[in-house]
Amino acid sequence: MKFSSLREAHVTGKYVVMRVDLNVPTDNGHVTDTTRIDRLKPTIDYLVEHDARVILLSHFGRPKGVSPEFSQKFLAPVLTQQWAHPVSFATDCVGDVAMTARNHMKDGDILLLENVRFHPQEEKNDEAFAKQLAQLGDIYVNDAFSAAHRAHASTEGVAHFLPSYAGFLMEEELNALNLALGNPTRPVAAIVGGAKVSTKLDLLQNLVTKVDLLVLGGGMANTFLHAHDIPVGKSLCEPDMAEQVHKIESAAAKNNCRILIPHDVVVATEFKANAAHITCGVGDIPATHMALDVGPETVREIQTALENCKTIIWNGPLGAFEIPPFQNATIAVAQTVSHLTQAGKVKSVAGGGDTVAALEMAQMVDELTYVSSAGGAFLEWMEGKSLPGVAALSHGKNQAN
Ligand code: AMP
Repeated sequence: MKFSSLREAHVTGKYVVMRVDLNVPTDNGHVTDTTRIDRLKPTIDYLVEHDARVILLSHFGRPKGVSPEFSQKFLAPVLTQQWAHPVSFATDCVGDVAMTARNHMKDGDILLLENVRFHPQEEKNDEAFAKQLAQLGDIYVNDAFSAAHRAHASTEGVAHFLPSYAGFLMEEELNALNLALGNPTRPVAAIVGGAKVSTKLDLLQNLVTKVDLLVLGGGMANTFLHAHDIPVGKSLCEPDMAEQVHKIESAAAKNNCRILIPHDVVVATEFKANAAHITCGVGDIPATHMALDVGPETVREIQTALENCKTIIWNGPLGAFEIPPFQNATIAVAQTVSHLTQAGKVKSVAGGGDTVAALEMAQMVDELTYVSSAGGAFLEWMEGKSLPGVAALSHGKNQAN
């Protein structure tokens, strides 16, 4: 994938329109997790140190038009504190308000603009709106990988009107993803868990053509068992996915991808913390019980199989990790991935919503080669889709010239 890095741009004294993802979790107006903000700091520091004038675009939530509860104003002091640089705020992202605030900037200043989604043209990728955003800057930097699966004006459209560059966070994400699936060292294993096959069909279909080993856990493993006429009792299962499962399996066979599904599971009669549970072989799941975690024998088999791999990519927990003790398989496998990574035997990349939460619980986030902070974008990339925000950087204005 070809894109220009921010390091190639002349930024001193320039207006840099920078797309970031400040869609952070909040509780009562307080940011509860600053990870996304903290990960932007290297790009911000670089731009400030090089005397650029940094104009930040972001979305926050899913407002329908202008709505105070989705204002980004409260974020300016949070950014100021987290980045240790003053950040000012303008109440609109285009028009006179934005232009006036921009015209008052000096070298090294940072200006946060109001939520781009207050304008419906943003999500429509309206060309005139994208041009208005572009008028604010001399160059465009996209550091919002997590919003790159959206073809919106601030993530895609604007790149057609300005020389465009990947910020350091974007670059880091793309390099990590390339390491895992683009140009990986083989053998490659993918660990895929989570609730349903139906939400990860594209992902599974793509992975079986790319990896050597596909480890399946979570609710979706039940759907695979059911497709092989193995009764799964009250387990979460999608019986109508049987045909898809067979298609995935034959694609895997064609591509020499081994699929590892559980042969023992931890089962309980209810989906509840500390529910009474037993471990049984997958042929012996009682009709009254549901499989909530992968069993210890399967965990050992997974661990042995991973030891022969050089690259591991992970999305989705192996069990109902939020309710104890059904986090055990996820934690045990996370520990193995972590040990192999720390010993320099594998490169490991993980991402997507619950995966990060599960790795945080296992205290393994810092132990893997890379943990992506993106949710939907990470999944779409695992599905093999082109991400519009990334593609725009490779055919942006600077590339065409
Ligand atoms: P996903 O968003 O598809 O990655 O799914 C994550 C969710 O799958 C988590 O909330 C887990 O609790 C759930 N999950 C994982 N394994 C199971 C299982 N065996 N039965 C029910 N839910 C599960």
